[in-house]
Amino acid sequence: SSYSTGYYRVPIIGAHGVGKTALKDRFMNSEYMAPMLSDIDEFDENKLTIVVDNEESTMEFIDLSSIKEYDRPTDAHVVVFSVHDSDSFTQAHGFLQHLRIELDSDRPIILVANKIDLVRKRQVTKEDALQLAKEFECKYIETSAVLNLKVDELLVGLLKQIKLKLNPE
Ligand code: GDP
Repeated sequence: SSYSTGYYRVPIIGAHGVGKTALKDRFMNSEYMAPMLSDIDEFDENKLTIVVDNEESTMEFIDLSSIKEYDRPTDAHVVVFSVHDSDSFTQAHGFLQHLRIELDSDRPIILVANKIDLVRKRQVTKEDALQLAKEFECKYIETSAVLNLKVDELLVGLLKQIKLKLNPE
């Protein structure tokens, strides 16, 4: 079977404290990680090579608390807020507006509701988050970086969205 590689640049955008670093750390320990990357000389804490469906892909994650800092080409965006911080949801709205309207980006965006383990402290409802995702044509997923819930699904879903955009069926 064929074996191809791709290189994708993906900013992770969100307010301070929403779990961007924690999510990225989980990505770096994903079960999809290509075994050859255990070579310590190759290690870069922002780059991850994974194998999904026999295809190797390298993703470079760029941690941003403001998208305005970044002016290189990107393949997709992850916009994160914390469900126990309504300010971070307001900021996520602002980031989506900036990407879709000011930058006119048509790249895949995944809106991530992180910290869903904090059930009793939840301030942002799923309905409101889904509404925002729909308004800006994003995929939506709820994760917990601390409990490692849906983090692999986020990673694989992200790759799927990038590939769909490049090779629409
Ligand atoms: P960043 O500023 O967006 O990079 O956020 P960090 O990854 O540094 O996380 C900020 C704080 O939130 C840390 O204390 C993390 O342990 C905590 N945190 C991150 N993800 C989760 C989560 O899913 N659930 C809970 N309860 N805490 C989290």
